[in-house]
Amino acid sequence: MAPGAEGPAEHLGGCLCGDVRYAVRGQPFRTSVCHCAYCQRRTGTAFGILPFFPRGQVRLTQGALSFYRHVSDESGRWLDHGFCPRCATTVTLQTEAAPERIGIAGGTFDDPTWFAVDRHIWTQSKLPWVALPEGVDHLERA
Ligand SMILES: [Zn+2]
Ligand SMILES: [Zn+2]
Repeated sequence: MAPGAEGPAEHLGGCLCGDVRYAVRGQPFRTSVCHCAYCQRRTGTAFGILPFFPRGQVRLTQGALSFYRHVSDESGRWLDHGFCPRCATTVTLQTEAAPERIGIAGGTFDDPTWFAVDRHIWTQSKLPWVALPEGVDHLERA
């Protein structure tokens, strides 16, 4: 790791196979749990966990990502997710709406408990058995 790049506020993570590794500095700008149909299909499960960081606070430390561009049928805007070309784990997410921010797939952190969730979004498409927690914002859309 580069001298001076690490610190107590740096958090590390990576894909399932370990080829892709990253480091982020500081706190997320915002963390959403996203129940949209895109996140459900992208992850193959009920929702996406998406802490978003200013782009300058995220760096890839090992490996390289492949990208897939999805155009939202709701907004007409694109979303790019970055994934490991070997094990297919989604690692990053970027949106046309906020290109200065980068989302990290929350479950890929070595310690996925370190950040708090601020809000649940696109709850209009949440699966019926998912119970939303108290104390965070719930948005039917985003
Ligand atoms: Zn991998
Ligand atoms: Zn989503």
